[in-house]
Amino acid sequence: MSHTESLEQYWKPEPERDYQRTFDQAPQIQHAYNEPGQPVVVACIDEGMPRGRNVAFIAGSGILEEDSVIDPLLGSGAIHGMTSHAGCGAAALAAREAGFQGDSDAYGETFAQTKAEALGIPYEGSITASDMRRPAHVHIADTFYVDGTARGFNPNLVDGAPLGFVHSRGIFGSAEVGQRQVELGIAIAMGPHGFGERFTTEHPFHVVVITDNQPGSVPLGTLLQEAEAVAAGNPRVKVHGVTIGA
Ligand SMILES: [Zn+2]
Repeated sequence: MSHTESLEQYWKPEPERDYQRTFDQAPQIQHAYNEPGQPVVVACIDEGMPRGRNVAFIAGSGILEEDSVIDPLLGSGAIHGMTSHAGCGAAALAAREAGFQGDSDAYGETFAQTKAEALGIPYEGSITASDMRRPAHVHIADTFYVDGTARGFNPNLVDGAPLGFVHSRGIFGSAEVGQRQVELGIAIAMGPHGFGERFTTEHPFHVVVITDNQPGSVPLGTLLQEAEAVAAGNPRVKVHGVTIGA
């Protein structure tokens, strides 16, 4: 089966997307939050990640970022494991940038493993293609969720929410890092392994920033500004803001 054929069945554009309403109407939204006080596992922003709580999402588990992005979180005991996964676009990009000629998944796996060892936390292994919630060689997301909550929230656990990339902006705490995640997600979705040219002004790629009113969460206005700056000049990207919880 070609990439194009397998992608076609997943392309379900809708004329209007009201993410706020989707989240307002979802039952048991609390279960999409990380558990208070529980350490998290670091995983990729990839929309194919298995459904789970207590995760902090960053591209390639941080493979494209400086050590200073992840390491400070450890001191607080906030992280207890690292993962990698099959078909990682971030690992492929990092391998290319490093001039690595071999299998990019192996490159990503070595990064996560080495990082975990250096930090004294468990490497929880590579998520295999069959455990991913997308076909092995294509990206089927038309949405990128920027989670600005302090606690961490996984929109892919919310019933009725479109499958999307997720970055834990509130946990990693950097506007710049967050914007790079969104840029990468857009590049993947609009590239040869994603829906690509199917995205139009009429059926755009959606960047959805999410926050709540809890202490430490990033304010909605800040998240919107950051996302709009990335989307600026690309009429095929639409930014949405969502506020959840109390
Ligand atoms: Zn990945």
